[in-house]
Amino acid sequence: MTIATNLLSILACPSCKGKLVWGPEKNSLVCRGEQLAYPVKNGIPALLAQESRELSREEMEKVDTL
Ligand SMILES: [Zn+2]
Repeated sequence: MTIATNLLSILACPSCKGKLVWGPEKNSLVCRGEQLAYPVKNGIPALLAQESRELSREEMEKVDTL
């Protein structure tokens, strides 16, 4: 199950209100500015600060650049 790409345009990082992009495997949403990943559980993004985790440099390189 995936989220329509156009839904991304209305989602924002809860921390900095920045744009989110798909993470590797499309099972997370990533704030590129802060290098944080928010999990997507059963197709539903968990955009909560306590759910986020920092991405390593290697993970950031795999992040969608769209
Ligand atoms: Zn952010």
